Amino acid sequence: MAAVLLPAAAPAPPAATATDPEGVLREVFGYAAFRGQQQAVVEHVCAGGDALVLMPTGGGKSLCYQVPAIVRHRRGLGVTVVVSPLIALMHDQVGALDELGVPAAFLNSTLEGDEARRIERELLAGRLVLLYAAPERILTPRFQAMLDSLHERALLAGFAIDEAHCVSQWGHDFREEYLGLSALHERYAGVPRLALTATADAHTRADIVERLQLEEARRFVASFDRPNIRYRIVEKDDPRRQLLAFVREEHEGEAGIVYCQSRRKVEETAGWLAQQGVNALPYHAGLDAEVRRANQDRFLREDGVVMVATIAFGMGIDKPDVRFVAHLDLPKNIEGYYQETGRAGRDGLPADAWMTYGLADVVNQRRMIDDSEAGEDFKRLQRTKLDALLALAEAADCRRVRLLGYFGEAYREPDADPGSPDRGETPRGVASEASLGFHCGNCDNCLNPPDTIDATESARKALSCVYRFWQAGGQRYGAVHLIDVLRGKATDKSRQHGHEELSTWGIGADLAEAEWRAVLRQLLAAGHLRAEGEYGVLVLADSARAVLRGEQRVTLRRPVERVPRARKPARGGRGGALPAGLPLDAAAGGRFAALKAWRAEVARAHNLPAYVVFHDATLAEMARQRPTSLDALAGIGGVGAKKLERYGAELLRLLREGPGEPM
Ligand code: ADP
Ligand code: ZN
Repeated sequence: MAAVLLPAAAPAPPAATATDPEGVLREVFGYAAFRGQQQAVVEHVCAGGDALVLMPTGGGKSLCYQVPAIVRHRRGLGVTVVVSPLIALMHDQVGALDELGVPAAFLNSTLEGDEARRIERELLAGRLVLLYAAPERILTPRFQAMLDSLHERALLAGFAIDEAHCVSQWGHDFREEYLGLSALHERYAGVPRLALTATADAHTRADIVERLQLEEARRFVASFDRPNIRYRIVEKDDPRRQLLAFVREEHEGEAGIVYCQSRRKVEETAGWLAQQGVNALPYHAGLDAEVRRANQDRFLREDGVVMVATIAFGMGIDKPDVRFVAHLDLPKNIEGYYQETGRAGRDGLPADAWMTYGLADVVNQRRMIDDSEAGEDFKRLQRTKLDALLALAEAADCRRVRLLGYFGEAYREPDADPGSPDRGETPRGVASEASLGFHCGNCDNCLNPPDTIDATESARKALSCVYRFWQAGGQRYGAVHLIDVLRGKATDKSRQHGHEELSTWGIGADLAEAEWRAVLRQLLAAGHLRAEGEYGVLVLADSARAVLRGEQRVTLRRPVERVPRARKPARGGRGGALPAGLPLDAAAGGRFAALKAWRAEVARAHNLPAYVVFHDATLAEMARQRPTSLDALAGIGGVGAKKLERYGAELLRLLREGPGEPM
């Protein structure tokens, strides 16, 4: 593996001249304009300010530090050090910069001594624009000595702290070593620091500010809306088959991630999908490191791999064309759900966030909190967070409005303000009053509004049956037995425990088993019932009294069967990230296929994922426009100066001679 991907010594870089942010964006990255808050962040950092950037996954955080790094290097200010927890992904990140002609390198434990020393020399000579390293490395005396030397010579342009939420113990990504990063501020006073994260909740944010001493930093909070992601939550029935149908009918041959809670379930699901002919691979922390890396590599490099994983997978995976994220189990909270689903559709093209959800999920998640070793305060917080997620799952109104409301953002329809592509200026905290009644048009509930039914009577029957159990013998039972008794289904247990004599025996014969499960699920979600202990026995909560007395009504959503597939391109959003509209005509389709085949070869030769060479959207645009000159090619989004120089002639030849027109 080529560890350092410095530009070959051969030809001088093409007129690398721009020293202003916009010029660099155009020249190096080939993009016409910044998105949303990028410009403000970039200008602030270029001018030497500290910043905290909160942007959703796919929002374009990388450019927020890469553009300033290039600008500052070209202004003679030296190297920007990128702190990243993800050693396994550094190679690809640096590879992507190399493709852009930006001198970058990483230092980590995968390097041979010789190479590490070569990179250190490049670093000390001030030739690198960006250097990636993990926090534990940055805090070593050897590394600090290098930074000291750079700092003394005014060649330390800045620090970018990626995945900054790792400094907080509240999330599941906490990294001890991140705590040491506050030392950078003390040791290298005056060197600008930029912390970035996609984790939005107030707790984590406050933690980042405090622990990294970013009190003075300017905060940039982007809109967390991801308009191209279609949210869907379906009732769990036969989850594997539901998943298979979803993948086959809507995402055949496309890349996706399937999240499961346990390692065992990951393996079983991956194995089963593979048997069914889906190109699925497992990923979890219990797998051998080699296997893990190989599977991750295949996911990144091959087309159309489905990764079945625990939440150990995903952070830092910047594959832009993940077309779906499916949850077979309930995540822990909305933060987790949002972060995981956010890995879909970074390229701005339509993508699905799909989840199956059932009674057992509620019981399990509640039990995991109850059984954990954590203190009471922590548990209480976890419960509140779970409740918010359950409310989202049970909601009959727009999922997006609820999601954004949770993060303190009011939803405004994408078309409402075409003049400003970024809706992130919304003052946060003034939550969703303003968005009540809004419809995003791109979630299951908006596309197919579910019926809601008054289920108060059924709820009362269920709660009073739980009460009768307890009255009859002080015992508690789980959901399965409760439903049997309600429906008057005789079993050994109902006979032995004398439950056939109860006044509630058979009072719920009017509802099917699945309907009862929905009622119980909702009672659990709303907190009127609690499931306790290993068997999830049901216990009345205080609030059940109001329902039993008929003082509080319970409404239930009745699911609608089908939601149309996510093919409609999302409207507006993202400041024009959507390509001019995919479907290509036959000739252009042929050219697109040829371009992809060419890209696959280049990517293999460079040992990089294909999207690092060019995104699908860029190739599609080439196929559609069929440029005939380098100038015209340079006008396509995603074609920067270096790529033009490296690949331009070949691409023009391919487009001239390739399929689509007789030669
Ligand atoms: P994040 O790190 O916030 O998840 P990335 O930095 O990976 O997001 O950006 C997501 C995608 O959007 C990338 O493929 C990137 O190339 C693209 N992108 C970012 N900014 C722009 C822009 N201003 N114009 C066009 N594409 C952009
Ligand atoms: Zn909606």
